[in-house]
Amino acid sequence: MQEKVTLDLSYCLAENGFSLDELIVKLSDLFKKKAFSELLKLILQNCQEVLLWRIFKGKPVAVSCCGKCEFTLNGGYNRSLKTSLGVVKMFWHRLKCKICKEPFILLKEFMQLDRYQSKSNELEKIIVDAVSETTYR
Ligand SMILES: [Zn+2]
Repeated sequence: MQEKVTLDLSYCLAENGFSLDELIVKLSDLFKKKAFSELLKLILQNCQEVLLWRIFKGKPVAVSCCGKCEFTLNGGYNRSLKTSLGVVKMFWHRLKCKICKEPFILLKEFMQLDRYQSKSNELEKIIVDAVSETTYR
């Protein structure tokens, strides 16, 4: 899977001047607070679309249920996923296995997330590390 992402950035410049440091700090804040999570969301959505396309075109994919890759679309839901890059709110497609009739959350299976997982594993590790450091001090 190879995709290309382009970025449009609109900005307003203060007419009464600003320092280079202010510009760098503001740009850094923008990327930390908004751009990284939006980029992550875009990549996840694109990944999900490519997986759906491959499944319904009969192309090989890295996920299966009952040893096969036979699914029907079965709606989906909006859910947030908390990560160290920010919160990603997106639509998660739900499929249904044609053999066992169980629901199958395509992107979660592909990324090996738990069914009700709401945080990325790296965020949980950061939280656990921060709590354990606080406890020992
Ligand atoms: Zn199945």
